[in-house]
Amino acid sequence: MKDRLLRAPRHAVAAALACALALTGCSSGSSGADTDTVDVVAAFYPFQFVAERVGGEHVHVSNLTQPGAEPHELELTAQQIASIGQADLVLYQTGFQAAVDEAIAQNTPRGAIDVASIVTLQDPAGSIDLTDGEEDSEGEHDEDGDEFTKDPHEWLDPQNMITITNAVRDRLSELDADHADQYASNAETLVEQLQQLDSDYSTLSSCQQKSFVTTHAAFGYLATRYGLNQISIAGLSPDEEPSPARIAAVQQLARENGVTTIFYETLVSDKVASSIAGDLGLTTDVLDPLEGITDESRGSDYIEVMRSNLAALETANQCG
Ligand SMILES: [Zn+2]
Repeated sequence: MKDRLLRAPRHAVAAALACALALTGCSSGSSGADTDTVDVVAAFYPFQFVAERVGGEHVHVSNLTQPGAEPHELELTAQQIASIGQADLVLYQTGFQAAVDEAIAQNTPRGAIDVASIVTLQDPAGSIDLTDGEEDSEGEHDEDGDEFTKDPHEWLDPQNMITITNAVRDRLSELDADHADQYASNAETLVEQLQQLDSDYSTLSSCQQKSFVTTHAAFGYLATRYGLNQISIAGLSPDEEPSPARIAAVQQLARENGVTTIFYETLVSDKVASSIAGDLGLTTDVLDPLEGITDESRGSDYIEVMRSNLAALETANQCG
């Protein structure tokens, strides 16, 4: 019994003690708080997806970014900050969500995976640099409010998702060695799906058009991996209001590159994308940066939405 308590996740011990003291409300089978599941807190959707797929029934995953909310500019409730400190494992990425970075610094969880330390983050690319043109801006991307020195959107490269999957498998196996075989098997299944996705995406090398226009610059990793060229209306954050000069530059690049489609996102207003498409007589379609999943997403999980993205790109860029 002593051994079992020592090996149980910390919150399970706390829950067991609370039950012993309170003698109430401890027997229902709800959401992992009262069993020996591993308590994982994911900073935003793609990490939630990996944790749920690898952890399966042995893990309870909560997501700090509510469904339908934007993970950029995330603010945390006091309860969420507390949940970080109590978690067995937190999946996050330094430099992306300042509130999460601060909460972890102040309230160290039992375990954490900082994805920025296991995948190679790229410099921002594919965003329009107006300083090269006639625009006399204050410097680089400052006018767009980008505070990122590295592009955070690494999850849109399936190969990075494989790296994350393997890291989650390893940490879960350390935290809960009894179920290591299950975590290994779950991870293997997910890695196979991600490899297939990567292989299917490689058909983008046959696209007649290499450029695509996105709402915010979320697809730099995808563009780099599969040989495409991202033209983004906004910068690395989706909430920026693009300047008229930037919109004009996007329109010119879209014309010069034979772009057929202006892409917008499910979590962000399509107003600017629709306006640009209207001016140029182009169509619009969804290219989803997978920063969250809602009922309006074109697919129920990362893999399905990535497949919808691939189909949208193949149509827009005349591939295959
Ligand atoms: Zn983003």
